[in-house]
Amino acid sequence: MLIYIENLYGPETKRVLEYMLKKHGEVTDEIISKETGLKINVVRRALYNLLEQGLLSYRRVRDRNSGWFIYYWSLNMDKLNTILLSRKRMLLDKLKKRLHFEENNEFYVCPLDGARYVFSEAMENDFRCPRCGEMLTYEDNADAIRFLRRKISEIEEELRREEQLLVG
Ligand SMILES: [Zn+2]
Repeated sequence: MLIYIENLYGPETKRVLEYMLKKHGEVTDEIISKETGLKINVVRRALYNLLEQGLLSYRRVRDRNSGWFIYYWSLNMDKLNTILLSRKRMLLDKLKKRLHFEENNEFYVCPLDGARYVFSEAMENDFRCPRCGEMLTYEDNADAIRFLRRKISEIEEELRREEQLLVG
């Protein structure tokens, strides 16, 4: 999430999102500026970026003395949770593909440099490492498969719980 925002808008917007995640509740641009040390115009640009992504909500109140609007910003938790859920689904999908790959291949590793090859690659190279010439050894990937299966069922369980929470 933070990396995605940083890639899209740069480190200042990421910094403001980080601050909002820790802060909880409503804040003004001036408070964010003071507490992060970022210039006020930088903070404002970051807030608009996050608003554009649907990550923020604001409430505006007219200041009695100046007549100007004051904006109180807060995180849009529903949107944030939806994004986090979809990222988790993507991760789950990736892990399932990885599991499928591990279950349907045999692996050979180089004992010197740790390079890993599937059966067909190892065979093409006469079971020698194409990098250093060392004999490849068969790798039992049962542990890796167990790890992936456990991880997948953990994430599936999390998703079930969180989707139920969203539906209410
Ligand atoms: Zn090697």
